Amino acid sequence: MTGGAGFIGSHLCHRLVSEGCEVIAFDNLLTGRVENIQPLLGHERFTFEHYDVTHYLHVDGELDAILHFASPASPADFERLPIQILKVGSLGTHKTLGLAKAKGARFLLASTSECYGDPEVNPQPESYWGHVNPIGIRGVYDEAKRFAEAMTMAYHRHHGVDVRIARIFNTFGPRMQLEDGRAIPNFFRQALGGAEITLFGDGCQTRSFCYVDDLIEGIWRLLNSDHVGPVNLGNPNEMSLREMAELILEITGSSSPIVSRPLPPDDPKVRRPDISLAREVLDGWEPRVPVRVGLERTRDYFTQVLGNRRSARA
Ligand code: NAD
Repeated sequence: MTGGAGFIGSHLCHRLVSEGCEVIAFDNLLTGRVENIQPLLGHERFTFEHYDVTHYLHVDGELDAILHFASPASPADFERLPIQILKVGSLGTHKTLGLAKAKGARFLLASTSECYGDPEVNPQPESYWGHVNPIGIRGVYDEAKRFAEAMTMAYHRHHGVDVRIARIFNTFGPRMQLEDGRAIPNFFRQALGGAEITLFGDGCQTRSFCYVDDLIEGIWRLLNSDHVGPVNLGNPNEMSLREMAELILEITGSSSPIVSRPLPPDDPKVRRPDISLAREVLDGWEPRVPVRVGLERTRDYFTQVLGNRRSARA
């Protein structure tokens, strides 16, 4: 696993260990945290390597699979860490594919719905090629992932590496970072702290939010499937960011006011996965956890994080 100490990566490490796998997690802790994998650190089937996967990669012994999840993923990171994002999507993908080739291992790439850019079709099927501004602020992430997909398919066609590509749509849940700049943690931080809720634009832009447990189930099934090529994994339940902000206000019982801020450049206006392919090739996979239930679990996690911070300060 690369990116094993991140939000999604850590959930995946827990799942893989619980499935009986022996897991080696590589992470340079750029946006991840050791606390995310703390419970696994003493486990006999888990090893953590503090390592930057854009450098030469070596692992002793055999490997069955490599899951490449390392990459900053928050819009705030697109401005803060542009070169690191481009490097981990390009050099990091090259190094991990090289290792997969050397070990005869299956390779699973964590790609993204951002490959579709600001889409002209909604919902987005895997056959849609996308609408991306390569030189915009978001281009560093979108193009890094598009390059990573191209490199993954080249290793498949040219070197025969067995590959899987997950096009992941917006995912949320415990272990997201309150300050990482994504919409859901932002709204929670503001609602729980009694601050204004900042909504970009008029808040009518849509997203489709998937609870992390459902995503992890989809990735596990994809890893074990025979399907080569991109598969959308996300929740087809589309909602506007204003609706999300209002729902978070409701479940936190907050009376914070909602205020508008200018829309960042190239912000996608709509985002919704067509998951017909996932249903077909992943044994009927679809999200099971209702958004409200997922948000309540996330609220409980963030409340606990804030409580721990208060007691650490006291
Ligand atoms: P995250 O920032 O929590 O996790 C990314 C992890 O990668 C972090 O632990 C970070 O330290 C590590 N990392 C970054 N550069 C590295 C490097 N050079 N070497 C080693 N480790 C490195 O983000 P996340 O939301 O968990 O995203 C995980 C993956 O899923 C990413 O590849 C992301 O593009 C993809 N994804 C996430 C979402 C989402 O909604 N969260 C949506 C689509 C795709």
